[in-house]
Amino acid sequence: MNENRLVIMEDDRSIRTFIMKVAEGAGFATRFASSLDEFLTLLDDWKPSAIILDLNMPDTDGVECMRRIREVRTTAKILIMSGMDTKTLESAGSLGRQFGLEVVGLLQKPVSVASLREMFEKLYEDVVSIDYANLANAIERDDLFLVYQPKIELETNRAVGVEALLRWRAGGNVILPDRFIPMAEAEGLIDPVSAWVIDNAIRQLGVWVAEGTDLKMSINISAKNLHNLNMPDEVAALCRDAKVSSQSVILELTETAAMGDGPTMMDILTRFRIKGFELSIDDFGTGYSSLVQLQRLPFSELKIDQEIIAGIGSSSSSAVIAKAMIAMGKAMDLTVTAEGIENADTAQTLKSFGCDIGQGFYYAYALNAEDIPGFVKK
Ligand code: C2E
Ligand code: CA
Ligand code: CA
Repeated sequence: MNENRLVIMEDDRSIRTFIMKVAEGAGFATRFASSLDEFLTLLDDWKPSAIILDLNMPDTDGVECMRRIREVRTTAKILIMSGMDTKTLESAGSLGRQFGLEVVGLLQKPVSVASLREMFEKLYEDVVSIDYANLANAIERDDLFLVYQPKIELETNRAVGVEALLRWRAGGNVILPDRFIPMAEAEGLIDPVSAWVIDNAIRQLGVWVAEGTDLKMSINISAKNLHNLNMPDEVAALCRDAKVSSQSVILELTETAAMGDGPTMMDILTRFRIKGFELSIDDFGTGYSSLVQLQRLPFSELKIDQEIIAGIGSSSSSAVIAKAMIAMGKAMDLTVTAEGIENADTAQTLKSFGCDIGQGFYYAYALNAEDIPGFVKK
């Protein structure tokens, strides 16, 4: 059983579904309760490791729930959520602590994906230690898997590709890449990790192509992978074996990572392009932006960072920046992709700016391979 079990006590169905989706994406199993009885039953039977409590419910309230939680003596960590002012939220929090509960955070409604994700980080308990031996084992035993997030052409609203996103299955839990990719990079495990990802993503693409589902596959690689001059030939050979065109494969490199130079990296990237692969500069606009970089390396796609996209609705400067980046990308003949689109307004704005492709929870969460053909046909 997944050790990370979250109970959501919230009566509003749409909020509940939203939180569930984000929590599941962060590796939690979820259940919800909309009454005190349901809630207490779940505490007893399912023993959650974490609880999100809405302060205002029709037949009860968060304070009453906390009083009852104290009686059950759970060790679950608690998040309190409310649309009320911060003062009320804070006093509910300190009351919870006085009850002896582990209140780890307060969430002001409306909640954003970013704030939820940050909270889930705090609630998540690692079930394995994130170290060399365990990850090496996971690769060996195929305890890694890929999920695929659709990329949507804004003009036609059709799925034109997917991005492969890595997951690590440990017991009933799912560990997200942000928790282990940095370790893999630091400890010299990123080559076997990327080899596993590239091999599996390309074979999966081969299966879809054979079934008649036409898509491009975006694969994340690390700059640390770019030391082996044979890499372009090896990946091209995988494409041949899987009967997919190299033109259907996009390699994504983060901007910060792409900063390192030296002839080897440039040699490898250039030969990937010559062999027909696409290259994408990921998370563009954060960290150490370098327009020179963009000019110098043979990229074919520019992916605007989520943080800028997330700001479009609320900050006029984010919109200005996004607009300028799109214009610049188009002027440089790049495909421009926006990631982290969470609502229709942002999608519309980006479309009006001439952005080519969108990706984000508004369109789709990362899906299992078997759900992709059905999604594409929709
Ligand atoms: P990334 O390449 O920027 O991937 C996009 C991340 O944003 C994914 O997180 C995705 O689930 C999340 N996301 C997608 N749409 C939205 C949205 O609308 N709102 C918000 N808030 N988030 C959204 P994930 O899967 O946890 O991956 C995190 C990072 O881990 C990736 O960021 C990438 O840098 C790295 N990563 C993932 N898979 C691999 C891999 O196979 N190899 C390497 N080297 N890195 C990987
Ligand atoms: Ca990426
Ligand atoms: Ca990104």
